Amino acid sequence: MAADPDIAALARLLQQAERAVLFTGAGISTESGIPDFRSPGGIWTRYKPIDFDDFINSEAARREAWRRKFATDPTMRAAQPNRGHRAVAALVQRGTASSVITQNIDGLHQASGVPEAQVIELHGNTTYAHCLDCGRRYEIEALRLAFERDEVPPRCADCGGLVKTATVSFGQPMPQAAMQRAERETLAADLFIVAGSSLVVYPAAGFPELAKRNGAALVIVNRDPTGLDDIADLVLNRAIGETLGAAVGVD
Ligand SMILES: [Zn+2]
Repeated sequence: MAADPDIAALARLLQQAERAVLFTGAGISTESGIPDFRSPGGIWTRYKPIDFDDFINSEAARREAWRRKFATDPTMRAAQPNRGHRAVAALVQRGTASSVITQNIDGLHQASGVPEAQVIELHGNTTYAHCLDCGRRYEIEALRLAFERDEVPPRCADCGGLVKTATVSFGQPMPQAAMQRAERETLAADLFIVAGSSLVVYPAAGFPELAKRNGAALVIVNRDPTGLDDIADLVLNRAIGETLGAAVGVD
């Protein structure tokens, strides 16, 4: 394994780093069986996405959103962290990485042992729901049992507000607190590692550019080429789990 020059180069950058930041996208979770919604044949190419305004304004759109959520939820719940998640968690636990910025909504970084406080979710989290007005948290399983009785989209028991998965939908503003934390972490990093993102979704994809401009080394690990390969210090177009796992020394 040490004979693999790409892995050795990544391991060397990790050894030299004083404060690394991981930036992860769908590619790290497809290895756990979670479909990449944007890939050909992905859910968002088969169904027109329900944007935030429709969710707010239409009971029929809310019903459809919840139907889809409950249809895809067994896959989400069955997914377990893979070697890539374990390598990322090891980097955080060793203190090499200060945080994980993720575009994923599956909660697998937390499930692999990254403390909640060190995961920055740019697109929210689909493993629970919340009231859009008062913020009260709701568990998916309880919502599913109620929905299956009458298909009435859930409302908040406290304030009557709309209950929605804690994800950021199309047309919904990016979460400001998460965006600001991600920017601070990016500016404090001397090594920025992209794992499994094709870097096409802005503003999220601006973080690696910002890191590079700010003087950090930029590494991209992604199965396919990305739009930022030209400015990266190291590009590995390979599977995420075996690449990070080998470089970090995690099975
Ligand atoms: Zn409420």
